[in-house]
Amino acid sequence: MERDMPEELLYEGKAKKLFITEDPQILRVEYKDDATAFNGQKFDRLKDKGLLNNAITVFFFEHLETKDIPSHFVRKISETEQLVRRVKIIPLEVVVRNVAAGSLSKRIGWEEGKELPHPIVEFYYKDDDLGDPLLAEEHIRLLELASEAQIEELKKRGLAVNEALESLMLSKEIRLIDFKLEFGLDQKGEILLADEISPDTCRFWDIESGKILDKDRFRRDLGGVTEAYLEIHQRLTEEIT
Ligand code: UDP
Repeated sequence: MERDMPEELLYEGKAKKLFITEDPQILRVEYKDDATAFNGQKFDRLKDKGLLNNAITVFFFEHLETKDIPSHFVRKISETEQLVRRVKIIPLEVVVRNVAAGSLSKRIGWEEGKELPHPIVEFYYKDDDLGDPLLAEEHIRLLELASEAQIEELKKRGLAVNEALESLMLSKEIRLIDFKLEFGLDQKGEILLADEISPDTCRFWDIESGKILDKDRFRRDLGGVTEAYLEIHQRLTEEIT
């Protein structure tokens, strides 16, 4: 890409860099190959992770658009970069779950793989110093992180994304166990889905074998991390003949 002016780095996160562009309403996101877990304590660089997560996120945001679920996504501009609308991120991780796993299994003692009677939505506080704790809605109110109406809207959007993605993944023989979303507010104060949706932020299990195809391969030292992300990308994009 030709760029006349050096673009200012706005923010560098664990897996992505955000740059200002000439248009104040548009940011450029660059997906990195860095992998981190446990609040940054575990770190590695995985070749091609950035381009796979960029491509997978684009695929999901475009799919959600067809289901009338708006996101900050504008367009893909290179293998590892996309343009997004600038939003003010609500500091909540919105986690939707269909099956017990990870921190839910630890918290309530249900074995990993136990189907939930219905999907649930949880909120976590995006705060590294506190270790991203689970928040009750009362805590969200105390901290004034979102209004009553916004909390309800976040739950509604989370469940809508779940419906769309769960059936998409099912058609690819993959079980959507759980995932994390982030939302932001645009200039008009409208809520927009933001951040990314990728194997870094979702749990995907192969329906047939139960094989883990997400970041748990990294967290749990299972090996084959990039291969799993590649498998997700291939299944999403392959033509069914
Ligand atoms: N998740 C995420 N970022 C976080 C925490 C969780 O993307 O900072 C995702 C995670 O990949 C999983 C879901 O949210 O798909 C639920 O994660 P959980 O609460 O079980 O936490 P974990 O076991 O990953 O610590």
